[in-house]
Amino acid sequence: MAPVVTRFAPSPTGHLHLGHAYSALFAAEAAGRAAGRFLLRIEDIDAGRCRPEFIVAIEEDLAWLGLVWEQPVRRQSRHLDAYAAALDRLRRGGLLYPCFCTRADIARQAAASGAAPHGADGWVYPGLCRHLSADEAERRRAAGESFALRLDMAKAVAQAGPLVWHDAEAGPVAADPMPFGDVVLARKDVPTSYHLAVTVDDALQGVTLVTRGVDLFAATHVHRLLQALLDLPVPQWHHHRLLADADGRRLAKRDRAATLRSLRDGGATPAEIRRMAGF
Ligand code: GLU
Repeated sequence: MAPVVTRFAPSPTGHLHLGHAYSALFAAEAAGRAAGRFLLRIEDIDAGRCRPEFIVAIEEDLAWLGLVWEQPVRRQSRHLDAYAAALDRLRRGGLLYPCFCTRADIARQAAASGAAPHGADGWVYPGLCRHLSADEAERRRAAGESFALRLDMAKAVAQAGPLVWHDAEAGPVAADPMPFGDVVLARKDVPTSYHLAVTVDDALQGVTLVTRGVDLFAATHVHRLLQALLDLPVPQWHHHRLLADADGRRLAKRDRAATLRSLRDGGATPAEIRRMAGF
């Protein structure tokens, strides 16, 4: 049997907090229990929000916790060619279209159509640019208008047929990506998106067990579809619970008090952090 390969994939947009420690320990232990491999991946495609000093801090905090991961660490911003190749394949399959809409355009169209205001991923795209003629799209592109690339979801779902994925707690799940609508696979400012980069990287890195918070459970419907469209291997998933603060609210990067740095500065030891995270 192939070895279990897990990963922890933070975005360097802030300092790690107790919730991240839980997620990283969860992934490392899942690999450790199976004598498998544990990877770290830095999801830094969002140049506007990611900062190099947070990457350094992430590695320091994880090492302080006692975690050991394989080298080299994959940094998404250095692999834009891999995402471009995946986009190219989807484009050749007729599954992508350029979208020139701004956020305001989308909110206006969605409100006017009386459609459900929000999908699993923010506004469900109402589809204006799906119907642009090739000439019109080319004219706007040539005029220098910026555009995103969207997946034609209905077409993609029809092409892929019924799909199932497996979660360690939920069991077999029928993939249902339609509620996401025509998701963005390449943003206006970055030539990829979370859904595309995470799916391509998990495949390229040979991840066999994707562990992450249950807040990303629904996103897996989209990832399973992309795997089918791109002929990628299908891992297993284990979506884990999210840690909450004393008031029962989910921990977020803005909760400075719960960062590993501030806990460490306050005298907490790695063993205490492990205990606080429930390990
Ligand atoms: N980079 C994502 C985050 O920090 C996690 C991606 C994933 O585990 O699939 O929320």
